[in-house]
Amino acid sequence: MQKADVSAWEETAEDLHARLSDEYFRLEVGLSYSKGRIASLERLNRQHAGVFLKNFSAPRALFLDSIASVAKAKTFGLTLKLHELRKSKICTRVGRTSVSWTTWRQFASHASDAQRKSVFDAFIKKSGMLTPTIDKFFRKSSGVYAAHGVDPLGVYLEDHHLTAAQLRNFLLTLGNSVKGMFRAEFRKYAKKFLQRSPAYYDDYYFMRNVVFSDMTDGFPVDSRDEVCKLLRDLGFDPRLIAVDDADRPSKYPSPFCSFVRIPHDVRVSYKPENPLQTAIALYHEFGHAAHAITIDAGLPYHKRYVLSEGLTETFSIFLENVLSDEDYLLQVLNLDKGYARELVQRIRFTEHFAIAFYVANSLLKMDQWEQNLSLKQMNDHYSMHLKTWLGMDVPGEYWQLHHILPESLMYVPSYLLAMARAHELTELLKKEYGRWWWANKRAGEELRAVMRPGADSKVGDFSTLDVASYVKSL
Ligand SMILES: [Zn+2]
Repeated sequence: MQKADVSAWEETAEDLHARLSDEYFRLEVGLSYSKGRIASLERLNRQHAGVFLKNFSAPRALFLDSIASVAKAKTFGLTLKLHELRKSKICTRVGRTSVSWTTWRQFASHASDAQRKSVFDAFIKKSGMLTPTIDKFFRKSSGVYAAHGVDPLGVYLEDHHLTAAQLRNFLLTLGNSVKGMFRAEFRKYAKKFLQRSPAYYDDYYFMRNVVFSDMTDGFPVDSRDEVCKLLRDLGFDPRLIAVDDADRPSKYPSPFCSFVRIPHDVRVSYKPENPLQTAIALYHEFGHAAHAITIDAGLPYHKRYVLSEGLTETFSIFLENVLSDEDYLLQVLNLDKGYARELVQRIRFTEHFAIAFYVANSLLKMDQWEQNLSLKQMNDHYSMHLKTWLGMDVPGEYWQLHHILPESLMYVPSYLLAMARAHELTELLKKEYGRWWWANKRAGEELRAVMRPGADSKVGDFSTLDVASYVKSL
């Protein structure tokens, strides 16, 4: 096939992507959208990926991306079924309140200890109702990959320029380095907020809220103004980021960023809520947005859009990390010294917890594809990994109740890769521009040079990651 044909294919792919993203964005922010249009665009998208696989095998990134698109399209019904089952089957009663999977986290934030335990136990018991659907999802997806001579782990590794041994080694190094600290902090904060030792139902999502519960009122910052100012100081133009801050009833509550057209149509949506959590989330999403508006418009579609998960999360985590820089909190946000110091400590605990938890999750996903595990075997592996990294006996079925593990083929190691990479980037800027690098336009220029090449960014090659330097900072 001719190169010209691939460019024509890419043009259509970009157009489909933009139209579909616009519809999804409207759906997610609670504006009117068309279900019919989404369905027909999804169909066109799937056919278009099929056209690629039938006619081309290069560029490799598009070949692999097309396989993922076909697998996703073929399992779309199963994903919807899983969402439906979580809502209708994973539910229980606590007194007069009914709690389902979808309201679980909200409920946990104000429930008593005994109530939280009883919901956790009930959901674990019912997790088996999800098992056949999750099983079908994995088998069908990996079948599509196998038909093209690849497998989900292999593709993930290729996207991140890693070997399986490198990824495993990275995970074990990280896990071992936080293990001791994490457990001591977990005990400290469980004692402070729960008046007891940590228990298996104090999961990451519960703890990362609880540890900020007495700090939210002390955060008197308009985070949208501040993050825009930060980007301006670094030489970005935040006016290129469209922001939807309307409070519509059917809008997704958590902030998110949508790359509708890269680099010209990039949108962030949020609903002002708890000011501290909003700040953390907004800095994260504006990091995604700053990346997308900076990617070179002249690059072909696959260099602008086919970005590894590790690469895209690098810039969001990088910007989010500014909020754990004590100098920034004191000098720019004018926070009280005691408060700032405490905030940094608590953020560090959530980072350690995230590492311990994601290491276990990532090892589970590696085992799954390397050893071709059944779901029952995955339960056993998971409880073993959680025991090793969290130091607790947690029922292994918990992974089936997670929001990412059962519906994505890999994904989880990306956070860890990005955390290490984001740290490296910050250190580099500190070294060259000093501890107040965030007020330096030249630091911003260096950042943009890293972002501009899209998929070819040097930070997307995770084989060069300096794990030791990250570990030292933890
Ligand atoms: Zn993100």
